[in-house]
Amino acid sequence: MMTRLFWIGMTLAGLGIPVAAQSRLEKKEGSAMNAASKINPEVTVRLLNEKGNLTPPLRVARALKPDNEWKELLTPEHYKVMRGKGTERAFCGIFHDNHKKGVYACVGCGLPLFRSDAKFDSGTGWPSFFQPVAEENIGRETDRTLGMTRTEIHCARCDAHLGHVFDDGPDPTRLRYCLNSIAMSFHETRDPAATGPRREKAMFGAGCFWGVEETFRQVKGVAATAVGFSGGLRKYPTYEQVCRHDTGHAEVVQVEFDPDRVSYEQLLDVFWGSHDPTTADRQGPDVGSQYRSVIFFHTPSQEATTRMSLEKLAKNGRFSRPIVTQIETAREFYRAEEYHQQYLAKRGKSDCPGK
Ligand SMILES: [Zn+2]
Repeated sequence: MMTRLFWIGMTLAGLGIPVAAQSRLEKKEGSAMNAASKINPEVTVRLLNEKGNLTPPLRVARALKPDNEWKELLTPEHYKVMRGKGTERAFCGIFHDNHKKGVYACVGCGLPLFRSDAKFDSGTGWPSFFQPVAEENIGRETDRTLGMTRTEIHCARCDAHLGHVFDDGPDPTRLRYCLNSIAMSFHETRDPAATGPRREKAMFGAGCFWGVEETFRQVKGVAATAVGFSGGLRKYPTYEQVCRHDTGHAEVVQVEFDPDRVSYEQLLDVFWGSHDPTTADRQGPDVGSQYRSVIFFHTPSQEATTRMSLEKLAKNGRFSRPIVTQIETAREFYRAEEYHQQYLAKRGKSDCPGK
């Protein structure tokens, strides 16, 4: 923290440029915009599809959670920076020296924030970018703490503090987005020349996990499946606790697949076909929030593919009622007790009892 203060002080006083620049940023961005976004339950963002192209602007629900939930979901280190607006020490974050190709996304909600091709070495010890993936994805607010006027940046969807933006960056924008590594996850782009088997993970909640696992186990290109719990707050929940509805978890299936043999989009088609995505917290005879229809995406491109697939489905009239499937960033997967794994296969069945 002290190092950053020292550096910022040097920038403001020594280099001269950013003082005026900061006031320009302040006028441009203002805090009123952010105050308005705080009360709107939706936000317009842009995602990155599988080819790395931006989607059109999309209206999505903001990832709003009470502070005590963020405290449970994040590690103390993440919480301190992302919710407490802390700053990690210079040269200590994991991405300041990362030169791999890929996309940096928000740890809080999975929103794509920056691409590696906009990253540059600022010499500050913090990962620095000259532009975000999309202007829509970054919120800005005037920060007058520590006796300075700066422009704080945060995730437009979940409000996680990311860092600051300064007017002393390189061309073409002359901006320097100064980030805390800990607020971001990195999704490396696979080298097109790379060979060998590929493995990706997907995670779906579509009612009782016994039947959902069996459905995905039959799909060619699926290498492994496991049933468990995700999306709630309780760590290492048991099946009994999840059934009591006090953990917030959904019953889920984690799928490991080879994207050269089955695409994520094809898995989504299996998902839509395996259950009724229009019934909230219910699948057939099973009632409760653990049976909710939910897709946990692992990468920005999985989110883009999911939202496009849902939009297509909503338009084609296959379901007469609105689709209520939730789309969330994947968090911890807690494997269920062993007797739940491949439950139906072990009994020579292909469907849940009562279905
Ligand atoms: Zn976020």
